[in-house]
Amino acid sequence: MATDTHSVFNWQIGREMAYPYEAPPPKKQVAWVFDINKCIACQTCTLACKTTWTAGKGQEYMWWNNVETKPWGFYPLGWDVRLLDKLGVGNWEKGVYKGKTIFEAAKAGERLVGVQPEEEDWAHPNIGEDEIAGGSVAAGDHITDVHRIWMFYLQRICNHCSYPGCVGACSRKSVYKRDEDGIVLIDQDRCRGYQECVRGCPYKKSMFHPRSRKSQKCISCYPAVGEGYQTQCVANCIGKIRVFGHINPPDKARDDNPIDYLVHKAKIALPLYPQFGTQPNVYYIPPVHVPRQFLFQMFGPGVPEAIKKYRTAPDDEKLRGLLVLFGSTDKIFTRFKVTSGEAIGYNDKGDEIVRVPITEPTYRRPFFDEERNVYRHSIT
Ligand code: SF4
Ligand code: SF4
Repeated sequence: MATDTHSVFNWQIGREMAYPYEAPPPKKQVAWVFDINKCIACQTCTLACKTTWTAGKGQEYMWWNNVETKPWGFYPLGWDVRLLDKLGVGNWEKGVYKGKTIFEAAKAGERLVGVQPEEEDWAHPNIGEDEIAGGSVAAGDHITDVHRIWMFYLQRICNHCSYPGCVGACSRKSVYKRDEDGIVLIDQDRCRGYQECVRGCPYKKSMFHPRSRKSQKCISCYPAVGEGYQTQCVANCIGKIRVFGHINPPDKARDDNPIDYLVHKAKIALPLYPQFGTQPNVYYIPPVHVPRQFLFQMFGPGVPEAIKKYRTAPDDEKLRGLLVLFGSTDKIFTRFKVTSGEAIGYNDKGDEIVRVPITEPTYRRPFFDEERNVYRHSIT
């Protein structure tokens, strides 16, 4: 373990842990919830991000948002399995992670355990796309009691971690976390392209730009966020699987804050690889059809309860209402209320910014339209 460490509390692993820098909590912390069950891998989010923020030569390697197919999809190649292999097996006991985080597993003189991908590893963002676990689909295959054959889409952006590996790794202190909202940025004037952040980010969301010879990453659309708008990947999501907002620590969680409610109260949204120790701030509603062991190593011990609770959504008006608010507006709503069949979102000032019915009304049209003298194939 590195010697110049500080002890910080990481609620996602249920204990104190070592971190190379002092990490006072920001005034606010940006956060996202992605409902994996609803993603159709259309990659609209990927292109929305790309066309907004990356341009010119060298942008070919810049997929700040990507959607990969698990279990075989990786961007860059093997990004998670290589690090998991280095860290070895770590057990959880009653919600506490007993293994070593990337910071605790560092050798003397190192800040963390990292992986440096080869240039070729970044060249195939759609590797493993739509490949299923369990071999191929044979004639006559069908689902019986469990999904023997499965896959799911994993939507990935920078997690704007509370204890970022990229910040911890940079010897020039070019990577920093903003005090006002916890967004993690790379100072392009300070960066010398050493790529320590690329190696140190366990999610491989800091990327080396081959033309500018500097590292770049997701900037959480900070100009839009500052004006009260959700990030581009959220606002453009076709499947309405995403919501953006701010998260509080568990002991300050609010019942009416959408992110707090999903993460801390309903506990249906979980961090990706919490055992890495960076306390990531993108939370995932796990896919209900995937083997639990696979999900456990990916999202931690909260998986069974999260899926159980998610399945109650049809009878839980508050949860269902909040899920309906996903993708209902491009503005940030920091409070929500569900009442009399409607879900309502409010901004920080308490102004209503969106109102949607929880059950969409159905209209039935006549099979034969006398006015146009035509029959309809679709009448509802
Ligand atoms: S836009 Fe939404 S539905 Fe489409 S790939 Fe991205 S996260 Fe999935
Ligand atoms: S996901 Fe990676 S790049 Fe983003 S803040 Fe965390 S460690 Fe840094």
